[in-house]
Amino acid sequence: MNFTYQSFANKVFFGQNAQVAFEQAAQGQAKRVFLIASRRNQDLIGFLQASPLFEITHLFDEIAQHVPLELVEKAALQVQQEHTNLILSIGGGSAIGLAKALALRFHIPIWAVPTTYAGSEMTNIYGISEGGKKTVGRADVVLPQVVIYDPHLTAALPLPIAIKSATNAMAHLVEGVYAVQNNPISYQQSLMGIKAILQGYETVKSSQSLTKEANEAFLLGTYLGGKSLCELPMALHHKAAHVLGGNFNLDHASVHTVLLPFILDFQWESLPAQIQEDFRTAFGHASPAAFLLHTLQALQIPTSLQAIGFKERDIDDAAAQIAALKFENPAPINVESLSAMLKKACRGDF
Ligand code: NAD
Repeated sequence: MNFTYQSFANKVFFGQNAQVAFEQAAQGQAKRVFLIASRRNQDLIGFLQASPLFEITHLFDEIAQHVPLELVEKAALQVQQEHTNLILSIGGGSAIGLAKALALRFHIPIWAVPTTYAGSEMTNIYGISEGGKKTVGRADVVLPQVVIYDPHLTAALPLPIAIKSATNAMAHLVEGVYAVQNNPISYQQSLMGIKAILQGYETVKSSQSLTKEANEAFLLGTYLGGKSLCELPMALHHKAAHVLGGNFNLDHASVHTVLLPFILDFQWESLPAQIQEDFRTAFGHASPAAFLLHTLQALQIPTSLQAIGFKERDIDDAAAQIAALKFENPAPINVESLSAMLKKACRGDF
């Protein structure tokens, strides 16, 4: 056996009440906090405002998708004025993305408290958009030092959003299994995460609601998926989701959800037998891609590109844009094979 494994240090509180975790994480040292949180999290905001350990220098509640540069500039002005020594972000990928853009500029540590299953809290990846173009990069200074997974904060996610967001986590895990430069630690954690998300889907399917068990299973998969996303290079799924979401104006989590079964199907014949076998075992099915599609269909969320607003006439353009990107992928890529895959995803059937 021969591998390289890069770990990324942070402290994770999983399953505890965030208020308890905040106090433990502070270790008795008072913090001057730039707080990013929407009013949806008023209880936690109130707790932090009342706590002697946390002095809220500014509450920033303006949050926008894809971290627009104008918003970063606006928040940066406040950070500069306030002698902040901690950026605390409570929210989904957009709120945590804003914290990362500020940490990149000011080198102030982040604590992240996710309220979706997107997984950004576990990565050193940032993205900032300007004039409709998103620049994505990696820098260890944006990796949150403390991450608090409090299940209460995701428990009230509307069911369709929860399923799509969990499938965003599933995408990190699936690409974490077949990543080209892999290692046994990230590989096994990705398989473990896949099982957690599948367990969550099953529970939702049988109860038609986001039960406590399903929420916790999705959160565990989120944590493991975010970790894999940080430790490994992602492949075709992430490049395709970036092109379709960014250049064809489709919702981030919906694109991930629709594409994933079709990408796994596209990669399948190029995967080594052992990886195929491990996927089959994790999914408990001879055809993981088909099983995933049928599971998502049964969960009654859109499972075709057409249903989320993508036009069939844009297939060749999208395929050409994806093929022009440089990345390593298990299956060989060309415009024709990508167009064929997108055609299937467009109608939502293999
Ligand atoms: P988001 O943060 O925009 O949240 C999606 C929607 O859900 C928003 O309307 C938000 O207000 C709402 N919401 C959030 N928490 C909620 C809750 N608990 N209950 C009800 N509604 C809630 O989006 P997201 O899906 O969390 O993240 C997607 C973004 O994160 C994208 O921009 C993506 O590029 C980025 N992302 C980055 C990384 C990374 O490693 N840098 C990883 C994954 C995603």
